[in-house]
Amino acid sequence: MGFKDLWSNLNKGDQDHIEKNVLISTIDEVYNWAKRNSIWPLSFATACCGIEMISASTPRYDIARFGSEVFRATPRQADLMILAGTVTKKMAPIVALLYEQMPEPKYVISMGNCTITGGIFRGSPTVVDYMDQVVPVDVYLPGCPPTPEALFHSILKLREKISKETILTRGDRVGSHQFKRNKELSEIEIRL
Ligand code: SF4
Repeated sequence: MGFKDLWSNLNKGDQDHIEKNVLISTIDEVYNWAKRNSIWPLSFATACCGIEMISASTPRYDIARFGSEVFRATPRQADLMILAGTVTKKMAPIVALLYEQMPEPKYVISMGNCTITGGIFRGSPTVVDYMDQVVPVDVYLPGCPPTPEALFHSILKLREKISKETILTRGDRVGSHQFKRNKELSEIEIRL
C-alpha cells in the first residue's frame, strides 16, 4: 500500500489534522536552516575594517536580523571568522591558531582589500597579501573599508552557500579545511 492509498483511507478530519501539524522536510534543510540562522562571529579584528564590523553590530545596522549578533569571545563557541583588517606575518600564525580552535562547521569572510590581496600594503615585507593562504575563505568582500551593508551582503552570500550544503559531503568539506599542519604554526608558508 502506497502513501496515496494510506492518505485516501483517512477521513477528512484526520487529513486536516495532519496537514496542520505535520511538517515534512529533509535533514539537510533542517540542519542548514539552524546553521544559517545562528552564525556566531568571533570577536576578532586586526585593523581598520574592524571598525565597520563593529558598526554592523550596533542597533543602527542591526546584525541581529541574521542571528549573528552574538559575537563570541572564544573561538570554541564561534562559527564565523571575519578577517577584518590587515594581517601582518607576525599575526598570521595567531589567526591560523584561532581558526583551528573553532569547531566545525566554521566559515570565513575575508573583509577588505587588505586580507584579499594585501590592499594598500600589498608587497610590504611585513604584511600577508593573501589571507586565503592562511585560512580557507568562503566569501570575499572587497572594499577599503567595506560598509556594514556590504558585510551584510557577504553574510547573505554565506547563508546561500550554507543552504546548499549537504551532510553527505560534510566529510569532504571538513577535510578541505584541514591544512598541512604537520609543522609548527610559526612555519606556515605565506606567499608574498
Ligand atoms: S582594506 Fe582599507 S579599511 Fe580595511 S584594513 Fe585595509 S586599509 Fe584598513
